[in-house]
Amino acid sequence: MVTLSSFLNESYLHELKVFAEYDGLDKVAKADIHLPAEKVSDWQVSLRYLESGNQRYRENKTINHRLGSKEERDSIKDSQQPFAVIIACSDSRTIPEFFFDQKPGDIFVIRSAGNTIDVTALGSIEFAAEYLMVPLVMVVGHSNCGVVNAALKGGVYGGNLQKVIDIIRPQTINCADLLQATQANIHHHASIIRKNEVIKRMGVKVIGGYYDIETGGVTILDDDATSRLGYSSDS
Ligand SMILES: [Zn+2]
Repeated sequence: MVTLSSFLNESYLHELKVFAEYDGLDKVAKADIHLPAEKVSDWQVSLRYLESGNQRYRENKTINHRLGSKEERDSIKDSQQPFAVIIACSDSRTIPEFFFDQKPGDIFVIRSAGNTIDVTALGSIEFAAEYLMVPLVMVVGHSNCGVVNAALKGGVYGGNLQKVIDIIRPQTINCADLLQATQANIHHHASIIRKNEVIKRMGVKVIGGYYDIETGGVTILDDDATSRLGYSSDS
């Protein structure tokens, strides 16, 4: 485990060629970067990494713009220590590694239309919680989500797409608009994950997030935020 002091240690950072380009960052900024071998057990540290990464993204100051370089691949070829699980929409504009400014090895990502959860997604989350010891799960919905909008309007599409709509539709019935429907859907899927036995046993924190495509910002939706938004909780 990497302690805070070693985490901030210049020589430790210099040993990692992958971080050579981060030398220009001050110590505060370095403290917000997950190192490949760092096992994070505190969900609040995970959240800090995500929030600081999103801040860099919003401010056009991303540092993980060389996604998938050879140095990065070498640093993670034998193991992975992701610090968070992200469930996001398949929408081509909502890429968690980008809007959280993270690199390979940092976040364990599951994507589906409308950031919906099924049994295989739950199995993937259980793997991350039990075998990778990831302390934080975030369900991230987004602005202008097409499939949530289709569910809100009660659209009929047939095929397997209809099954996705049917999963989202119940959350949207009493919602006034797409924003409320999207956030209700985020909360619903976070609630499903919270009730999972492995998640409970491992003490994993589960929260929601709302990504605004226009601003690039992710708003954290915790239980307090949920109540402020005015839709009922099913947790
Ligand atoms: Zn979407």
